[in-house]
Amino acid sequence: MIKDLLAKTKTSLSFEVFPPKTEDEFQEIYGKLDALAALRPDFISCTYGAGGSKSGKTAEISSYIQNTLHIDAIAHMTCVGFQKSDLEENCKMLEKEGIQHVLALRGDRPKTMTDEQFQNREFFYAADMVRYLKEHTALKIAGACYPEKHYEAESFETDLQHLKEKVDTGAEFLISQLFFNNDVFYDFQERAADIGITVPICAGIMPVTSAKQIGTSVSLSGSFVPKELSDMIANYGEKPEEMRKAGIDYAIRQILALKEHGVDGIHIYTMNRPKMVEEIVAKV
Ligand code: FAD
Repeated sequence: MIKDLLAKTKTSLSFEVFPPKTEDEFQEIYGKLDALAALRPDFISCTYGAGGSKSGKTAEISSYIQNTLHIDAIAHMTCVGFQKSDLEENCKMLEKEGIQHVLALRGDRPKTMTDEQFQNREFFYAADMVRYLKEHTALKIAGACYPEKHYEAESFETDLQHLKEKVDTGAEFLISQLFFNNDVFYDFQERAADIGITVPICAGIMPVTSAKQIGTSVSLSGSFVPKELSDMIANYGEKPEEMRKAGIDYAIRQILALKEHGVDGIHIYTMNRPKMVEEIVAKV
């Protein structure tokens, strides 16, 4: 179980992958997973729904990680558009594949969802799905957390209180949103501990290897971009190879400092790029 592994490992190392959108790319994912597995991560998580992927692909990839690579897999699962029957079906599919862990997420409101549908959704928050999973399945549950506050939360304090509810309901460990300033993460850890959140928290690290990423994944995450990183983009944004090297170097320095600080885990958002991850892991 990942919970036990986190309890005995000083700083775990784990990766996130996503199901590619096209069938051609999908065939390539297995080679990429093999390459990531060679880096001996403690677990690998696979996203759900993000980028238009379907739940079956998350289960298929998670099954390969779990059953072929023999690495603990975490299947992400969102509930914003789910009825209980959808959730039941998804859980059955995961359990049939021998997947034991899920990252229980509310998910973002789909553009196609009307106000009425959003207001009447069956599972309001991730904690509601966590409760359902605890009562009806044997799945082990992780939750997401936000060192810089979730974008909808009124305040950092209320967001932390909601996080505590999610943990008290059954989330056994947490994986954080990406961040670029370690002090923000340390402060979040302390404030979480102060209100009694004692489960392990894995730090989400996204290497920024192209200027384009700032306009996409990074801006979506709402994470603060420190001056060092924005200067890097200003200097190297037009020079892809230099930008890539500088981004990898930034991620390495961030991870080394987090390990030195004794964080529970490092969770690398791999963007399905094993070569980049290999370069990072070799130096941390
Ligand atoms: P929740 O924990 O439900 O929180 C959402 C908001 O509701 C927060 O502002 C919280 O403070 C508030 N809230 C919670 N409980 C209450 C309450 N009782 N009363 C009032 N307010 C409350 N998205 C995908 O689509 N697919 C993925 O695979 C995916 N993977 C992710 C992985 C990680 C590590 C992270 C950090 C995010 C991921 N996301 C993914 C994005 C995520 O779905 C969104 O950030 C979403 O908006 C929130 O999901 P959540 O599970 O954190 O929500």
